[in-house]
Amino acid sequence: MVNTAINKGQDLGLAEQRLGTMIHELTHALIEQFACSDCGTYKENAASHGRAWQLLSRAIEKVASKLLLSEIGSRRFKGLMGDIELGFRVPSAHDVEIHDFGAGGEQVDGADG
Ligand SMILES: [Zn+2]
Repeated sequence: MVNTAINKGQDLGLAEQRLGTMIHELTHALIEQFACSDCGTYKENAASHGRAWQLLSRAIEKVASKLLLSEIGSRRFKGLMGDIELGFRVPSAHDVEIHDFGAGGEQVDGADG
C-alpha cells in the first residue's frame, strides 16, 4: 500500500526529521570515504560542514523533497554555525547564496536550537 501522507506532501514530522538526519550523516560518510585529505583545500571544502558537504547535502535535500513532496532539511545551517564556533572559516557571500540556507524548513535565525 502506498503511504498517502508522503504522496500528498503532508507534514511527515518525525519521518522528515529522521530522513534529514540520514542525509546529514550519510553526506559526512561519503565525503570522509572519498575526499582526499591530503588536498590543500580539504579543510575548507571537505572537512566538517564545508563547501563540498553543503553542496552535496543541499542537492540530496532537493531530490528528497521533490520525491516526497515535502521539505526535507539536513540541518546545514546549524552545522555551519557549529563549525564557525570551532574556528572554521566563514563562507563567502557567494557560497552563502548558493548554499540556499533556509531551504528544507531549517530556521536560520538560531531559533531552532
Ligand atoms: Zn554534521
